[in-house]
Amino acid sequence: MLRHPYILLFVMLFYFSSGKAQFFTNEDCGYTGACNLSNYNNFNKYLQDFNRQKKAEYIIPVKFWVIRNNNGKSKTDAYYLKKQIQYLNYYYSITNTGISFSLRPDYEFIDKSKFLNLKYFLQSPFIILNKKSKCCINVVIVNKLIKNKFLKSRKKKYAGTFNPFSKVIIISRGSSTSTLSHETGHFLGLKHPHRGWKRKWFQEPVSRTKKMFLSKKLMCEKKGDKLCDTPAEPNLTNYTDSKCNYTGWNVKDRYGEIYKPDTHNIMSYTNNRECRNKFTPEQIALMHYTLSENKYEKIWRTDLPENRKYLPDAFEPDNCKKNASEISLNTPQIHSFNKFCASKKKNIADTVDWMYFNIKTIEPQSLKLSLTGINCNFSEIHISVYDNYDRLILEKNMKKPQDIILKDLLQGTYFIKIKNMTSEKICYKLMLHMNKK
Ligand SMILES: [Zn+2]
Repeated sequence: MLRHPYILLFVMLFYFSSGKAQFFTNEDCGYTGACNLSNYNNFNKYLQDFNRQKKAEYIIPVKFWVIRNNNGKSKTDAYYLKKQIQYLNYYYSITNTGISFSLRPDYEFIDKSKFLNLKYFLQSPFIILNKKSKCCINVVIVNKLIKNKFLKSRKKKYAGTFNPFSKVIIISRGSSTSTLSHETGHFLGLKHPHRGWKRKWFQEPVSRTKKMFLSKKLMCEKKGDKLCDTPAEPNLTNYTDSKCNYTGWNVKDRYGEIYKPDTHNIMSYTNNRECRNKFTPEQIALMHYTLSENKYEKIWRTDLPENRKYLPDAFEPDNCKKNASEISLNTPQIHSFNKFCASKKKNIADTVDWMYFNIKTIEPQSLKLSLTGINCNFSEIHISVYDNYDRLILEKNMKKPQDIILKDLLQGTYFIKIKNMTSEKICYKLMLHMNKK
């Protein structure tokens, strides 16, 4: 049912962008950048300044929408979401992009079995229109993302897709560790390096110096992904082996030059998607350029003093038992309750931290848990500790830092939950010691 008059228009736009995309390449990620909504005109000027200046730093909140069956069952839990954020941060940090991501604690579940194996053309537009929050990247997680080949009955499964109109990402559950980073690359303005390679007039040449016939601009700035430091390449799905080696030794561009691709670029279609772990300097610059034009960019900047106060700590996301972080003996951890933007003026508070520790010895242990405030307020927190069987073994409200003794702990895993009882920013240092009697 079309509940909204704009939905029909949106579905048509969706068809247009995706249908057109199909003629360009053998797609594995529903996005080709065939509809280019970004303004690249000023990018070259931006690139020169970018290389001279210190680059901005960002943390972008990610909001997940998880499709489950009608009974609310799914293998996608808070632990899975934490892993997605950790891999996303890993791939963006190893090439020093200056961009990182945080998990918005208000992720939501959609209990509709009919969307579990999502039909790309028929169902994605409805999901994309309805499931969207402000000030974040919206990511929908489905079991499978299925696209019928145009005018054919053959179905193809996709790892993920990015919709350029709504800016929503959809990924399928079993996709590689680099899939979300790839789709986020599209959100940040990047295209596939092999874009247009199958069509003679759109193909990017291997040569970096060839110029366009009329405008005399460099072809590598106009074709493919429009970046000159990502080599021209064919769709690498068919030309790489499982060990990330290139196997298209005799594949040539339309000028007869042999391709020399990079099989590790996150935006490529390397056959084994786990090979992908790299962004080039120009890709990083383009992501910053795209961010500089985003209306939330000032809120996401972490190099601005006004935003430093609410940075997530190193153990987040840890807002529920499933994604608790481990705390080891005699190793202090500094935690904070941060905030996430929900719009330009509204925030969502992160109010809970979960940790766990293991007692490995057969003899019962007694531990001291010391909580200390650090250089920001410590006004009021609530602490609860649970044993292996989910039984509450301690509960306490604390208005000032103090030590807690946990006596006679048997072998097993214990969980600590710390809740912020105020609306203020609170930081605390937590340490677990053996309790010497
Ligand atoms: Zn893609």
